Amino acid sequence: MKTILIVVGIIIVVLGAAFGRLMSKMPKKGPALVSLEGGIQGVLCRFSYAWIVPSATGVILIDAGLDENAPNIIAALRRAGLGPESVRGILITHGHADHFGGAAAFPGAPVFAHAGDIPLIRGEHKRTGIIGSIFSAISARKKPPSHLEPLPAQDSITIDGVTFAVMELPGHSPGSVAYVLGNIVFSGDAVMGRGASLMLPNDFTCTDPALARRSIAKLAGIGFTTIADGHTGAVYDGRRKLEGFLTTLHLP
Ligand SMILES: [Zn+2]
Ligand SMILES: [Zn+2]
Repeated sequence: MKTILIVVGIIIVVLGAAFGRLMSKMPKKGPALVSLEGGIQGVLCRFSYAWIVPSATGVILIDAGLDENAPNIIAALRRAGLGPESVRGILITHGHADHFGGAAAFPGAPVFAHAGDIPLIRGEHKRTGIIGSIFSAISARKKPPSHLEPLPAQDSITIDGVTFAVMELPGHSPGSVAYVLGNIVFSGDAVMGRGASLMLPNDFTCTDPALARRSIAKLAGIGFTTIADGHTGAVYDGRRKLEGFLTTLHLP
């Protein structure tokens, strides 16, 4: 009996330590609302951000959260005197359900994602590994957006008068991208804030963790100040933090 208790105790301690290690490498949830220059707003949808960007005749969303009814995004639009029909387009950073699920609440808007992640969004391609299988099961319950289109094969996209540069940052998923608008990089999960520095998504959540590391080095080639990410909110001196962070990755 005593031996069983000791074994059970050891298992609990080991599992607890493993869980603690996993959680310490997960992004910390940011504030409910984030305001950036140009009237851009970050809306926390449970644990991921949708970013609302004003456009010529309405707004553009960058990601849309997990919930298919997108209640937090719709509430933020209402506070600005807008309805769901004012969404002119949705840019998805990558094909994980916590970023595209809410697109279903805006059936009139075209939804764009990198061609590499369209099979993930349509549920035609399942993620592998334990964590991947759990995420795939969540995604499988999400209806893919009705107007889903691959991003045009060029390095920018213009929707309703607003032009975003598109940067391919594969690794977290095959088709992860960042959208760049002026000083702001909308990075999805490719790189996120962590205290005084930055963090990469947990290796467990990546199709190719080494590629994910190499991809973010590309951001050093562009001018920006703020990173608006998929889970922690805004990193205001993102460019300086990126330079410091890249030196810790020992990239070849
Ligand atoms: Zn993701
Ligand atoms: Zn995410």
